[in-house]
Amino acid sequence: MNHIPLSNIKAILLDLDDTLYAYKPCHQAGYEACKVLASEKYNISKSDFEAAWKAGREKIHHDLNGQGASHSRLLYGQKASEVLFGKSNPQFALDMEETYWSVFLETMEFKPGVEAFLQEAKDKGIKMCIVTDLTAQIQMKKWLKLDLGRYIDFLVSSEEAGIEKPGNYMFELTMEKLGVKPEECIMIGDSEEKDIKGAEAIGIKAYKV
Ligand SMILES: [Mg+2]
Repeated sequence: MNHIPLSNIKAILLDLDDTLYAYKPCHQAGYEACKVLASEKYNISKSDFEAAWKAGREKIHHDLNGQGASHSRLLYGQKASEVLFGKSNPQFALDMEETYWSVFLETMEFKPGVEAFLQEAKDKGIKMCIVTDLTAQIQMKKWLKLDLGRYIDFLVSSEEAGIEKPGNYMFELTMEKLGVKPEECIMIGDSEEKDIKGAEAIGIKAYKV
């Protein structure tokens, strides 16, 4: 991220997941903790859990395609419970959501160099906004875990915008909050499809990390 030029810009739009921190180790830790809980509390084998979780995730992705809630671990857990028990089990869904995200958050840390970059941008007086797909509550918890308020001014989640990246409104809502025009800001993200093409579609220069 440190190679990105910061001259002549007023604002930076930043993806969160897999841009400011590495997603995979957090996900793996959270998912493993769910498997352990499913085994210990609900007597479900790891393979049965994996199959049910995968079926639940695929169904929710399909039904809620393009919405922030398509990533909801609570809904994955509900669907998984329906596969495993033949009926909805809200306690199971809530247990899995709580365990997944609490272990995920414990594992989260900045990627190397990110904090130095954010500090440099802040020192230059550049405004920053997180532009992120997923539900608002968990993205706010991630914000608090990384203490992003030290550097970053605003948050836009796809739940709030009602559409996911690369949808134009994610970027338009961000610029509205920041009070900037496309040519005055840059986008930084890890996804070519969502972050780079989404930003470029409305004239924002974008950098893939
Ligand atoms: Mg990302």
